[in-house]
Amino acid sequence: MEILYSSTRSKGNPVKASEAILKGLSEDGGLFVPERIPALDKSLEELADMTYGQVAYEVMKLYLTDFTEEELKNCIRRAYDEKFDTEEIAPLVEADGAYYLELFHGATIAFKDMALSILPHLLTTSARKNHVKNEIVILTATSGDTGKAALSGFADVEGTRIVVFYPKNGVSPIQEKQMVTQKGENTYVVGIHGNFDDAQTGVKQIFGDKELAAYMNEKGFQFSSANSINIGRLVPQIVYYVYAYVKLLKEERIVNGEKINVVVPTGNFGNILAAFYAKQMGLPIDKLICASNENKVLYDFFESGTYDRNREFVLTSSPSMDILISSNLERLIYRIAGNDPDKNRELMMSLMRGGSYTITEEMKAQLQDFYGNYASEQETAQTIHDLYENTGYVIDTHTAVAACVHKKYKEVTKDDKVTVIASTASPYKFTRSVMNAIDSKYDTMGDFELVDKLSELSKVQVPGAIEEIRTAPVVHDHVCEKSEMKQTVMNFLGI
Ligand SMILES: *Cc1c(COP(=O)(O)O)cnc(C)c1O
Repeated sequence: MEILYSSTRSKGNPVKASEAILKGLSEDGGLFVPERIPALDKSLEELADMTYGQVAYEVMKLYLTDFTEEELKNCIRRAYDEKFDTEEIAPLVEADGAYYLELFHGATIAFKDMALSILPHLLTTSARKNHVKNEIVILTATSGDTGKAALSGFADVEGTRIVVFYPKNGVSPIQEKQMVTQKGENTYVVGIHGNFDDAQTGVKQIFGDKELAAYMNEKGFQFSSANSINIGRLVPQIVYYVYAYVKLLKEERIVNGEKINVVVPTGNFGNILAAFYAKQMGLPIDKLICASNENKVLYDFFESGTYDRNREFVLTSSPSMDILISSNLERLIYRIAGNDPDKNRELMMSLMRGGSYTITEEMKAQLQDFYGNYASEQETAQTIHDLYENTGYVIDTHTAVAACVHKKYKEVTKDDKVTVIASTASPYKFTRSVMNAIDSKYDTMGDFELVDKLSELSKVQVPGAIEEIRTAPVVHDHVCEKSEMKQTVMNFLGI
């Protein structure tokens, strides 16, 4: 059955999946949502015998209904290949009574690869299907990981260019090095003087600039987004929750139909929303545990029903979660507002104007599936330290936020269901924070010395993505003010 996508902010004409992927964001500023959530049409036992790519097809075909089987299978084949350092693509590792779903085996060793290795293919396929002649310009704001994963996905993809803005002082040294060494004729990386929210707001403004869009079109360009608001990012993320479940089933860690909990370290609310969609599709998930760092705007929201971004922005050791406006939450708000775009728009306008909104009791009652909590910097470090001491397994700072919140959840609720923790980055991406958490004596070591030491401690080989940047030359050194983002993009395009 065909699924169309409508905006969270107005009733307008619903669009096909390929159009939603091309547009990224709806013209009214809303996010595209599927008009209904499809149910899985294969049994969990059947799925349990499939490879990652096969599960990906079974899930994605239900959403991307205007793609032919061949088109979709092609995209999947080209995405989940040797760029990943394991055939499993997303392995599950048991440690200290929980299952860590390692989503960092792709080209840039963070979970963004799960979606961004396929998005360029979904996008170029969508462009072909819709007879787009313009060159597609991907415009992205990143809190660190999206940028590199998008650059890596789009580098030298014909018919595309990519511009990435990152907060100059808001990403880890390894993250920055990964981005500024990015090869590819069509890539452009810019640091801005501001934080991630500034970068994201700037990008949204450029997207909303109708005059610029018309001028771009004249010059043979059109914008698209690789940010996690694109439905082409969200849908591939549903896959690994299904895959994790059926793998637990296959390995007889659970019985068919047994409910599991899922813990997700959350920033923009994309990853956990994908888990929520998986649940709506019939996957036996009980609680969706939303883990925040000290930027705990989501925790406060789940507690009080008020979303309030008016607070100090904290730079933490889990920078990919240093976010005060979780864009993808809008899709959930729209849903609990009874799929009412007017109600949702009102709340989003209130967020835009005053930085906050409050949902009704009736809406709040529909958030029973979610549990929110947060981890302080100190607790995050302690979690890395303790897990390593007790099991030898080393996790990164983002995953540690989730592991810590999982522990808090169990203490409060005594719920001991089988739990999958989304492990969103390799510890190698945040080596300094991770090693410092294990022992502060490592503080004096250089970045790559730390990398080697981590390999020794964890007995995990240094990933190719890290070896690559040891010696790579810096090829991007642009920095701009947040007010100069539009001009910067135009300069890059030579228009
Ligand atoms: C992006 C990111 C997150 C947050 O994911 P959202 O989908 O934005 O909630 C968590 N951990 C890491 C390592 C990330 O890169």
